[in-house]
Amino acid sequence: MTHADPDKLLLRLRDFHSDYFPLHQQRFQDLVAQGQHPKTLFIGCSDSRLVPYLLTGAGPGELFLVRNVGAFVPPYDQSHGLHGTMAAIEFAVLSLKVERIIVCGHSHCGAIRTAYEGAPDEAVALKAWLKLVDEALLPVRPSPEAMRRTEQRAVVLQLERLMDYPMVRRSVEAGHLSLHGWHYVIEDGEVHVFDAERGAFVPASQSSHSGTGPYQPYVEHDGQIISDV
Ligand SMILES: [Zn+2]
Repeated sequence: MTHADPDKLLLRLRDFHSDYFPLHQQRFQDLVAQGQHPKTLFIGCSDSRLVPYLLTGAGPGELFLVRNVGAFVPPYDQSHGLHGTMAAIEFAVLSLKVERIIVCGHSHCGAIRTAYEGAPDEAVALKAWLKLVDEALLPVRPSPEAMRRTEQRAVVLQLERLMDYPMVRRSVEAGHLSLHGWHYVIEDGEVHVFDAERGAFVPASQSSHSGTGPYQPYVEHDGQIISDV
């Protein structure tokens, strides 16, 4: 590779600077001068097909993002470990004082599939991390329908874990923070939002809100309750 033949990624960096930035320069500079004040913490799966800015129409300064394999929330843990997702939640709630937290899973999630099928032996961190979704797995072969249900159950499970974070529970109970569970169906281009009253995920096109929380027990159509908060 020579200077006359820059790689494609370098070209995109140059395009951002020369084409996009001049059109939005004031916005970026205001965000530097005034600091960021996002109202939303978005906890999303790392999957490349999930693009939070496209789904929400958000621009710079609007979403505080944390992404990980599966969009999981680790259990609240005061062991002083290197808990990246937990640190992001603490920062968003205590310092940024966000008003909502979205947990966004999606269809065809590789994390959920790997939780069913098993990770490579060498992937020690991945194996441990995927235990965070054990409670949402169904005792069946992962058919497309079972995958969909598991992905949705996983989202509700993470909302439950969020409520175990003292600063989250305190803010929710004070009415300063709401929790939203989303399941993004990539092939339909639609987010299904968790409706606590209906105990179900409702397509955004048919929902009157972007998700309710805190939530009532999540009762699936077969009557199984996975949340007894
Ligand atoms: Zn995923």
